[in-house]
Amino acid sequence: MEDVKLLSEKKALETLRDLRDGFSKRIRDEYEHRAASCLTCSTPGACCLDAHFVNVHVSKLEAVAISKALENVEDDLREKVIDRIDSTIDTYNISSEGDTFQQKFACPLFEKGFGCLVHDTGKPVACTVHACYENAEDLPPNELQFAQEQLIDDLNARTYGRQNPWLPLPLAIRKVMFTSE
Ligand code: SF4
Ligand code: SF4
Repeated sequence: MEDVKLLSEKKALETLRDLRDGFSKRIRDEYEHRAASCLTCSTPGACCLDAHFVNVHVSKLEAVAISKALENVEDDLREKVIDRIDSTIDTYNISSEGDTFQQKFACPLFEKGFGCLVHDTGKPVACTVHACYENAEDLPPNELQFAQEQLIDDLNARTYGRQNPWLPLPLAIRKVMFTSE
């Protein structure tokens, strides 16, 4: 059987960053100007902390990127976020069983007074396309999100040699932070 040469995780993270930057720029340039500004939002973070709404999933490689981004956060805050990841998993019974997209939670990466802790370094695709649009027809089409997620999924397979399930964000981060596979 022919050996398939895998990408190094370092190279894959660089490729992921380029994919993420290109996608964010496209969403910013082509869509976001029609959405309400988050800078003047009267309820900042309401979107990220809504436990009836948030079901953000990420791939293994994105979880690695997020956990590396958190390594650069000041120690006290990082400890607080790690505790929050654990308590989110417990509070909302987050697991990898069943239809994981039904699991909703307040995102542990939102820090009051700061915002999304991985806005520039690991923002998930679903979060990048999200904004408050007055008109439904102004939203980025779902196909854009799906195509970006497919590219990231393929990159994961080229890195780890097999498909990995996308997991609810807190669980995905904890898995790469606290276990080695
Ligand atoms: S997405 Fe909407 S709710 Fe969230 S911060 Fe921006 S304007 Fe506010
Ligand atoms: S990852 Fe960031 S943008 Fe997405 S829900 Fe969490 S805090 Fe909000």
